[in-house]
Amino acid sequence: MVHEKDLKIPNTGQKRLVVIGGGFGGLEISNALKKADLQVVVIDKHNYLTFQPLLYQVATGGLEPGSIAYPLRRALRSIPNAIFRMAEVIQISPEDNSIETNNGWLSYDYLVLAVGSKTNFFSFKPEESSQMMQLKSVTNALDMRSFILQNYEKALLTSDELEKESLMNVAVVGGGPTGVELAGALGEMKNHILPKDYPELDFRKMQVHLFEASSRLLGAMSPISSDRSLKYIKGFGVNVWLDTFVTGYKDGVLSLNNGKSISAQTMIWTAGVMGARIDGLGTQCHGPANRVLVDEMNKVTGYENIFAIGDIACMVSENFPKGHAMVAPAAMQQGKLLGENIIKMMNGKPLKPFEYFDKGSMATVGRNKAVVDFPGNKGHLGGFIAWLAWMFVHAITLVGFRNKLIVMVGWLYNYFNYDQTLRLIIRPFKKGKG
Ligand SMILES: Cc1cc2nc3c(=O)[nH]c(=O)nc-3n(C[C@H](O)[C@H](O)[C@H](O)COP(=O)(O)OP(=O)(O)OC[C@H]3O[C@@H](n4cnc5c(N)ncnc54)[C@H](O)[C@@H]3O)c2cc1C
Repeated sequence: MVHEKDLKIPNTGQKRLVVIGGGFGGLEISNALKKADLQVVVIDKHNYLTFQPLLYQVATGGLEPGSIAYPLRRALRSIPNAIFRMAEVIQISPEDNSIETNNGWLSYDYLVLAVGSKTNFFSFKPEESSQMMQLKSVTNALDMRSFILQNYEKALLTSDELEKESLMNVAVVGGGPTGVELAGALGEMKNHILPKDYPELDFRKMQVHLFEASSRLLGAMSPISSDRSLKYIKGFGVNVWLDTFVTGYKDGVLSLNNGKSISAQTMIWTAGVMGARIDGLGTQCHGPANRVLVDEMNKVTGYENIFAIGDIACMVSENFPKGHAMVAPAAMQQGKLLGENIIKMMNGKPLKPFEYFDKGSMATVGRNKAVVDFPGNKGHLGGFIAWLAWMFVHAITLVGFRNKLIVMVGWLYNYFNYDQTLRLIIRPFKKGKG
């Protein structure tokens, strides 16, 4: 089919593989295909890769956004058969092997979905969720940073004590790694940084709340790490509410399932993610949490030339009845293997099924405090050693030497000075704008 507007990709005479999403999985498969006789077209709505595990540090003023993002054109420079287009994919048309983007159409021989996930607000109505902050992108992190700081500026100007407290309070919903890391960082800010910037405000009145619907924090980790994280985070002055559901959020007030209500102008929702599925695929591949069902070769159910990797892919197996966790190692391992399998497929060789290599899991709570579970839960670390391990792993996983260096120097500076320097309101944020 000929379309009026296309993405102007040169015809190299090679088969074309289109990767939607230049995140952890998308970059890994592109690298794995660098020697393949294929044209690889990477499409992303951003022109950079986001290192999501450190977003919370941008949101709390510890790191600059440029140090956790990496330009995709630069990342793809070393892949001679790769071409990048910045565009948002709106629709997939499997019947004519093409995709529609906001900038035009593109045809493919093979299609790889590596679009990641988005925030799941579950049954909250749009008028409620639009009042909540989320943390999935650099833009979200900068909005959160601005909004929290704007609220302190406002708190200085009001003589209504209840309004002042509501402006200073922060509620984090979801006791997974993101919620714990954010709440811990906010607790540290309350203790060490904000009182220096706002000496006229009484920070004893500021409350950082962390709400978790289940009976423990970091539910995907071992009970020992959950217990440790609870102890650590309480040490940072965070009020932890376990077994507590947030049932509503209106006019800066959270309603809880226990009948109580909490006033906090800043409410951060980290309690759920779901696949960022794109329209056009048949219902046979629609999996739980808006993910796309794939087989053990990452092939999307019902299609021979469409694949999905990373957060968007739901590969159900005996050991993973709900699919793999939405974590970076799963996306990277699937991306690498799928790249190798596509080369095998083109050469008529047998394919290798995916097997997740468990590297263990870790989460940081704050200064000197983190938890680590070794692969298969065969051992656990806590405290300072775990914190060093967390920093090391995150620093080496960052993309780009400059980013690794800047992040490590930033951490050293913040550690010795008890002072994050990036408390700038560059672009004021207004709730509910989008
Ligand atoms: C705050 C936070 C903290 C995290 N911490 C950790 C951690 O500590 N350890 C860990 O292992 N994992 C962590 N994760 C999860 C990890 O980041 C994801 O599992 C990983 O990024 C998934 O990789 P992916 O390639 O599937 O998707 P992503 O890396 O999210 O990449 C998806 C890409 O697709 C693009 N895209 C999406 N839709 C479209 C579209 N329609 N058109 C064009 N482009 C599109 C996006 O712009 C993005 O660049 C965290 C996630 C978050 C949000």
